[in-house]
Amino acid sequence: MLGSLGENLTNTMKKLVGMSVIDKKTIKEVVKEIQRALIQSDVNIALVLNLSKKIEKRALEEEPPKGITPREYVITIIYEEMVNLLGREAVGLDINQKPYKILFLGLQGSGKTTTIGKMCRFLQKKGFNPAVVCTDTWRPAAYEQLKQLTEEMQIPLYGDPENKDALDLAKKGLNEFKNKKVIIFDTAGRHKEESDLIAEMDQLDDIIQPTEAILVIDGTIGQQAGEQAKAFSQATDIGSIIITKLDGSAKGGGAMSAVAETGAPIKFIGTGERIDDFELFDPERFISRLLGMGDIRSLIEKAEENIDEDIAEKTMNNMMSGKFSLIDMKNQFDMMGKMGPMQQVLNMIPGLGGKIPKEASKMTEDKIDSFKVMLSSMTQEELENPKIIKQSRIQRIARGAGVDESEVRALLKYYNNTKKAMKGFGGRGRLRGSTMNRM
Ligand code: GDP
Repeated sequence: MLGSLGENLTNTMKKLVGMSVIDKKTIKEVVKEIQRALIQSDVNIALVLNLSKKIEKRALEEEPPKGITPREYVITIIYEEMVNLLGREAVGLDINQKPYKILFLGLQGSGKTTTIGKMCRFLQKKGFNPAVVCTDTWRPAAYEQLKQLTEEMQIPLYGDPENKDALDLAKKGLNEFKNKKVIIFDTAGRHKEESDLIAEMDQLDDIIQPTEAILVIDGTIGQQAGEQAKAFSQATDIGSIIITKLDGSAKGGGAMSAVAETGAPIKFIGTGERIDDFELFDPERFISRLLGMGDIRSLIEKAEENIDEDIAEKTMNNMMSGKFSLIDMKNQFDMMGKMGPMQQVLNMIPGLGGKIPKEASKMTEDKIDSFKVMLSSMTQEELENPKIIKQSRIQRIARGAGVDESEVRALLKYYNNTKKAMKGFGGRGRLRGSTMNRM
């Protein structure tokens, strides 16, 4: 995604993770690299300077909250400020009325027709059955192109290559599909200028009275996209944007940031020529991916819940090195309580996702609670050295916890299995103190 921009940013983040100290010098170095990557991607210079100033200031001045290392905090700041550049939330479509009429606009070659096909597929997957009206009277091939696209998906299309009156086509199309929930209108993309595009929207607007007008913008034009988006969002308050051709585009970052700056919502992005190369635009996810990190946002939220990270790290290290005692297991259960199921926690560690023992992922909350009670009935000696727990001790622990002896045995079995499984991937190296590994 986003070719060189993604690559450069991912490398910068990797470097940040590998740095032995985080100080003024390293922060400045990282900020410089981010600047360079963004400027290369045609992001407006003023925007880049503003962003890097903010990152640098925050990274140097703010105290990391409890439970977060300085390195993690710098990563968080970079992530947050980059997300802010694109607007926070995913907007998507809210098809809340019938008919929901979507008017598609876009300069010729922007990818409008392809995107209509993608949108139809997207809507079909959501359980809608859209219809398409072709009002493009300028490009004879437009109708043919749409026909081919829609036929493959069995989507009804209205159009008439002989009819040269776009407004008449719009009226007839509306009538044809008056019982449909979602109707998509394709328009001519003959315009050279944004102003012509807007004029066409005005004319069609009167007849169609769209619920939503979508402007398709070619992402390869970089920050120029901002001008198109600005003219468009000034002319309509029902406007949203789709940016296409973000796959491998050297200027995609510029297009996205410039559009976001205008305040017009980017709802979807096009990431390839195929019908499924289309996705809902979610700034947080997008930036996580661009920075080459796992689901960093949720990780940060969890860390903010004040995990005692020394315990977490020690437990993890013991887990990985096979020195896993019942104390570590107890800590593990406490961590789960704060961070959610172990599977989820471990999935968030980049490079570790999926490699966790099955036993750990099957634990229910009730079971964990009952295990915790039993663990609290054990002596320190038993917790440190579980081997000494034989029949008479099992009896005592069961009595103390008010459970059956078989449940204490089940706990010990779980412990032994987990320990065995942990040894299995301990060989891949201990978790070092580095942020990324621990997260
Ligand atoms: P229109 O004139 O705006 O209707 O543009 P088209 O839909 O005909 O697309 C113009 C060209 O851009 C075609 O070759 C499409 O395959 C290509 N295209 C559209 N969207 C994308 C995209 O997201 N990525 C890439 N790589 N190509 C795209």
